Parts: sequence; C-alpha cells; structure tokens
Amino acid sequence: MKILQTALSAVAATAFALGSTAAFAYPDKPVTIVVPFAAGGPTDKVARDLAEAMRGPLGNQPIVIENVGGAGGTLGAARVAKAANDGHTLLLHHIGLATAPALYRSLSFKPLEDFEFAGMINEVPMTLIGRSTLPANNYAELSKWLNDNKGKINLANAGIGAASHLCGLLFQQAVQIDMATIPYKGTGPAMTDLLGGQVDLMCDQTTNTTSQIESGKVKAFAVTTSKRLTTPALRALPTLDEAGVKGFNVSVWHGLYAPKGTPKAVVDKVNAALKTALKDPEFVKRQEALGAVIVTDARTNGADHKKFVEAEIAKWAPVIRAAGQYAD
Ligand code: ASP
Repeated sequence: MKILQTALSAVAATAFALGSTAAFAYPDKPVTIVVPFAAGGPTDKVARDLAEAMRGPLGNQPIVIENVGGAGGTLGAARVAKAANDGHTLLLHHIGLATAPALYRSLSFKPLEDFEFAGMINEVPMTLIGRSTLPANNYAELSKWLNDNKGKINLANAGIGAASHLCGLLFQQAVQIDMATIPYKGTGPAMTDLLGGQVDLMCDQTTNTTSQIESGKVKAFAVTTSKRLTTPALRALPTLDEAGVKGFNVSVWHGLYAPKGTPKAVVDKVNAALKTALKDPEFVKRQEALGAVIVTDARTNGADHKKFVEAEIAKWAPVIRAAGQYAD
C-alpha cells in the first residue's frame, strides 16, 4: 500500500513540477486534520482555530478535525504516518512528537522519518492547576498539602507522551512525591473530571486552563515557563522556579505534518496556507487571549521546524531517561 502511495505521489510530484493542473490540484476534496487527543482540549482548540484560518488559503475546501485520542498522542500520530500521502490528511501534534521516542519501548512510527514537516504553529505555556475544593490557595500551601497527603494525591494527564504527562513527570521528580496518574484521551475530558473534583491536580496548556482559572472553577498555583506570563488572567501566577521548583521550564509547541512522501508542491502549499493563517488577525487574537505565542520566525518553515524537533528529541531524551519512565 505504502509503495503504491509513494508511486502515486511521485506521479503527483511530477505533474506539479510540469505545471499540470486539474488532476493534481490541491486540495481537491476536504482536508482532514488529525488531532491526537480528544475534542475540547488544548490541541483540539489550536486545530479548530487553525482550520478556520487555513480554509481560505486552501481554496475554501472544508477542513475536518478528526480526534484520535489515546496513548499520549501516539495513536493519532501513527494514524497519519500510515495515511495516504496526498496532503488530504494532516497531523497537528505537539511536543509529544519529540518526547514519545524516549518514552515508548516500541513506537509504530518514527517522528523524523515518517512525516513531511509543514511548519511550526505556536508555543503555549502550561499551568499547574487543581480542583477548586483543594485546601490550598497558593503554591506554598499546595506544597504543604502535597507533603501532608503523600500516597493519596492524584494527577490527571492525557497519557504517556502527552505534554501533561511530561510536565507531571518532571514535577513529581522535582518535588520527590509520587502521585497516582489518571490518563485520559486528552485534557479536555480530564478538565471535566477536575472541575467535578474527581481528580486533584493537572498540568495543562493555558489554551485549556485560562478561562477556568479566570472564572475560579479551578485553582491555579504556578506557570511552567521560566518567565511569568502577560495574559491578564495569569499575570499574578508565579513561575514554578520562583515558587521553589528550581529550573522548571516546560512549554508546549505545536506543529503541522503530512505523511512521508507527500509531494513537495503539496507540502509547500500547506506551508504557505499555514503562514497566511499565522498572520490572520482573528486567529492571532484568539490564540493570544489564551496565552499562546504564535511563531513568526524561521521555524514556520518545514525544514527549520524539522531541525527544531530533532533538537527537542535530543533535549528531552536524557531528561526522560533520568526520570526513569517508559511505556511499551
Ligand atoms: N494538552 C494535552 C496534553 O498533551 C493534550 C490535549 O490537547 O488534550 O497533555
């Protein structure tokens, strides 16, 4: 199947190169963006905003979001790695693409080999949040509560390989307290349980947590970046580093990918549409209001983003190994 796809994409690439039109016009049907997490979560929010902003630049073809949650984002990534490489199935993923190789003993896809890199989208800080009924109102009180409740604390995440998992893993290691982790298909459904008080804590992107923090439905203790945030609702939050968890610095980036062998002309068109979307004032406004920082540098180029992901894989592998956690 893959061989046939590769042959077809070679034909498509030739047709593009020769300037052939109708047969290989792209996109010539709806484009699917696979989100490797459940609907309603932060990755899903980025994808839905981006889909709206990319629709015009992609000739007004509908862009459909397909949520393939589970196993920390690896199921959705595997789905796109094996999809037809004609540009009609894309993957919107995040830092998990770079951490999965160190976390999984066997992974059914290779991040750097199985995708064409269309470009980077944004960087999103995370927040450490808790259920509203937690008897702690700031990080110092949370720290005391954690120490008093060892063995009883649980922490929601989106499975091994998710950003919430990475953040929780590093946090537990830093404070030397083990917590029971409760995996969800995404932090959208995890948030529902946090709001309901079924879980105690979660570390998640500001794109999912800002409105809940603002309305007081969850308690916020710190941000995970090395600098405080400027978003009005989050400005008062200390960094974890300031709060005493020295050197803590995690930020989630998102990127867009096509299956390996997608014709260059198609990937270039996706990249051009992405770049246009990243300048769309509505998209920028919506993302920035939720604490996301839109990428405007060379990382929006496919090749530069690939180099960045390569560096991220190298950066996180020793950290994850030191934390001693992996899955099958
Ligand atoms: N924020 C989640 C994570 O990686 C995934 C999601 O978007 O639902 O932890």
